[in-house]
Amino acid sequence: MRNTDHGFARRDDWNALKSDFDRLFLQVKQGEHGRDRVQYFRAVTYKEVGLRSPNVSFLHDAANQFVALAREIRPSQFGEESLYQAYLLYSDKLSLAKEADVVVQELKRRYPKSRYLYVLESKRQITPPRILRAQFAENASQKAARKLPVVVLDPGHGGEDDGAVGIGGLKEKNLTLSIAHETEKVLQGLGCAQVHLTRSFDTFLPLFERSEKANALHADLFVSIHLNADDHFPLKSQGMEIYTVSREASPEALGIVSRENASIDDLGGGLQSFLAELYQRGASAVSEPAARKLYNNMRSLFLSKWGGLRGRGVKQGPFYVLMGLEMPAVLLEVLFVTHPEDAMKLSNPQFRSDVATALAESICEYFEQ
Ligand SMILES: [Zn+2]
Repeated sequence: MRNTDHGFARRDDWNALKSDFDRLFLQVKQGEHGRDRVQYFRAVTYKEVGLRSPNVSFLHDAANQFVALAREIRPSQFGEESLYQAYLLYSDKLSLAKEADVVVQELKRRYPKSRYLYVLESKRQITPPRILRAQFAENASQKAARKLPVVVLDPGHGGEDDGAVGIGGLKEKNLTLSIAHETEKVLQGLGCAQVHLTRSFDTFLPLFERSEKANALHADLFVSIHLNADDHFPLKSQGMEIYTVSREASPEALGIVSRENASIDDLGGGLQSFLAELYQRGASAVSEPAARKLYNNMRSLFLSKWGGLRGRGVKQGPFYVLMGLEMPAVLLEVLFVTHPEDAMKLSNPQFRSDVATALAESICEYFEQ
């Protein structure tokens, strides 16, 4: 099923938000509490407008604002993120190699232990920015001409971010990558969709980059793959659940939300939920049918295998990785790495392969409906 329905945030929405932040920025003085936040999100709104506009000056402004912010404040996650955002704009969107390099030097000087230094290094080694751009650039007529729908699989966590760690040292970041690779293989065999992964290696990838990749590909479905954990009552929690994004979380989802959002924790606060509201416009309604389809299908495919796949339901939560996506998007929590039975299954390659097959077949079913 193609997504032709557009409840998603558009350039006009971003423009309105950008004006709000321009006004807010004039009101908070240097040194005033919260100014860094306003500056950061103001730059984000410039970037989002720039990504939806033929006028590159917004992207220039955004990059300059990110750099100015990093120079103005004491080292913090905002400063570090800002330099990385500026680097991505200069290097991938504006092709300004010299400016990109200045930012990298600044990142090294101000944040010598930054996780982004590894990310930059691996980007340079694996995929030169030029190829990356060509790979992700697609215009409307190319999209119309394309035969197969596009699914983006997002293996959660990676690099220094292990995600949940469970029984026997099972690491979420490794399981998600293994399941994503297998699902990709099965999907390619089935031939019902074009598949892309947000990461193919054990590398750290910021949440905003995952959604930006999927938007740039004009994907038709986004599936973020995760493993669940319950550190307080490990024997009580087992089974699969699927989430769509929403501003509100069901009470039992709160712990999961904070774990999955952990890599951007310091960027929280009121402004983020303000942005989230804009970001998720319409996303939940279009994602719900996809979530139900995947959930029911995967459970029925497991009926006669592994004693069934215990289901915990389709739920909602403010997952950052699902925000800003312009396509139906779900977050799958396969099983609990902290539950003995679940962990035993997860450590078995045959089980992971069966999960991948069920997921791939369910994705095909979703597209064929
Ligand atoms: Zn996770």
